[in-house]
Amino acid sequence: MQQPDKLHRFTFADLPLRGELVTLTQSFREIRDRHQYPPAISALLGEALAAVALMTATVKFEGRLTLQLQSASTLKLLLVECNHLGHVRGLAQLRDGAEPGGADFRELVAGGQMAITIEPDQGKRYQGVVPLSGDNLAACLEDYFLRSEQLATRIRLLVNNEAAFGLLLQNLPEHQGTDALAHAGHLAETLSLEEALSLEHEDLLYRLYHQDKVTLFKPQPVRFNCSCSRERTLRALDSVDPEELQKILAEDGAVEMTCDFCSTVYRFLPADLSAGTDGQGSEPTLH
Ligand SMILES: [Zn+2]
Repeated sequence: MQQPDKLHRFTFADLPLRGELVTLTQSFREIRDRHQYPPAISALLGEALAAVALMTATVKFEGRLTLQLQSASTLKLLLVECNHLGHVRGLAQLRDGAEPGGADFRELVAGGQMAITIEPDQGKRYQGVVPLSGDNLAACLEDYFLRSEQLATRIRLLVNNEAAFGLLLQNLPEHQGTDALAHAGHLAETLSLEEALSLEHEDLLYRLYHQDKVTLFKPQPVRFNCSCSRERTLRALDSVDPEELQKILAEDGAVEMTCDFCSTVYRFLPADLSAGTDGQGSEPTLH
């Protein structure tokens, strides 16, 4: 059955843990369809999108959280973002000429690192960086939480062509070192891809934790939304060499900029560039 995009937080009555579940269907497909990534990269992008939604929900703030993978191997860059409104977007870049054969995470990101950046609308930016030393993205994120926040965490990320699912379990800060996480984490390991992507969150928690009293909070919507705009793109052109812009205008009659996240093409005519954002321009078109 098709699940709508949503994120749930939950707690256990008798275990000092907090948990979150996220399912991305429409948002994942919209992001996937705006790019033409090989299946292994699409799958990793799905995992990262589920992960960034889970991570955003662990932080109380207004702003955005970015998860970035960089490596000198096949995957040059993978960047996903989620904000406090549940708006997600993401992109991936492969190294020129690189062909991801299988979906082996270690091969895709060999020698790489992961950066988590929290950018509140108000206040200080925070960034944590860890090496990508785990067998998969979930293991790397568990490592990040332990190193950066001293929080023991269990994460499962499951994807297929159509949807991405994430489950996070975390010790409450004042209850490190209990065996509750091992117990709940062990049960979470029994969840299959099919169950994760077909069961309602309520049913899924019942399937895993019917012996542990679970309280599920109100779901939060998650959706694809790119924050790019014509104005921002025009401002970005300020950093381009004016001579270079003039050359492009002379040759093509317009300057086109494509958003790497959503593939929207913004086209600027000479009048737009001289008049700033108030100029007459064509509407953005989607390729
Ligand atoms: Zn965009």
